[in-house]
Amino acid sequence: MTHVIVVGGGPAGLSAALFTQKNGLETTVFDTDKTWMHKAHLFNYPGIGSQDGTAFLDTLRRQVDSFGVERHQGEKVTDVAATDDGFTVTVGDDEHEADYVVLATGANRDLAESLGCEFDGDLVDVDVTMETSVEGAYATGAMVRAEEWQAVISAGDGAAAALNILSTEKGENYHDFDVPADADRVFGELADEE
Ligand SMILES: Cc1cc2nc3c(=O)[nH]c(=O)nc-3n(C[C@H](O)[C@H](O)[C@H](O)COP(=O)(O)OP(=O)(O)OC[C@H]3O[C@@H](n4cnc5c(N)ncnc54)[C@H](O)[C@@H]3O)c2cc1C
Repeated sequence: MTHVIVVGGGPAGLSAALFTQKNGLETTVFDTDKTWMHKAHLFNYPGIGSQDGTAFLDTLRRQVDSFGVERHQGEKVTDVAATDDGFTVTVGDDEHEADYVVLATGANRDLAESLGCEFDGDLVDVDVTMETSVEGAYATGAMVRAEEWQAVISAGDGAAAALNILSTEKGENYHDFDVPADADRVFGELADEE
C-alpha cells in the first residue's frame, strides 16, 4: 500500500494527511507540537467565526484521527533521505519507509536542505503542486513562503500537495469532492450504530 509520511502537524501537515488518508493512502504524521497555532486566535480562517488556535488544532487532530491517520505526537524526524523507490524517514532509532514525503515543518527548513531540495533564496523552491525539486518530496506552509504566513494558506498548500500525490497515484487529475448524500450516508451509518 502506498505510504505517505508527513513531517509536521500544523495546518499544512494535517491538511495534507487528511486528504491522503481520506482517499485511501496510508498516512503517518510525526509532530513535535511547536506549531504557531498554539499562539494564535483565528478570526480570519474562512468558515470559522472566532476560535482559539489550540481549539482549532484539537478539532483538526480529531478529524484526521477519525479517518485513520497514524499520528505520532512528540516524535521528531531527524533525517529524510531519498532511496531508489521512495524515502527513509528517521525518528530516533527507528527508520520508516515512505513512497512520498510531505514536509510541513513551519519556518524550519533543515530537513528540506539536508534532503537536497533546491532553494530560492531562503525558501524551499516548489511549484504550484508543492512538489520540490526532489521527486515525490513536497514542501508546504510557512517553509515555502516569505510572508504569507496564515493558517488557511498552509492548509491549502497541504491539500494541494496531497491532491498531486493522489493524482500521481491514480493516474488522472483527482478531486476530492463529496456531496450532501455522502454526509447522509456517513451520518446515517453513525446514527444506526447508536
Ligand atoms: C502570535 C501568532 C499569532 C498568529 N495568528 C494568526 C491568525 O490570527 N491567523 C492565521 O491565519 N495565522 C496566524 N498565525 C500564523 C499561523 O499560526 C501559521 O501561519 C501556521 O501555524 C503555519 O502552519 P504550518 O503548518 O505551515 O506550520 P506550523 O503551524 O508552525 O507547524 C509546523 C509543525 O511542525 C513541527 N515540526 C517541525 N520540525 C519537525 C520535525 N523535525 N519533526 C517533527 N515535527 C516537526 C512543529 O513542531 C510544528 O508543530 C499566527 C502566528 C503567531 C506566531
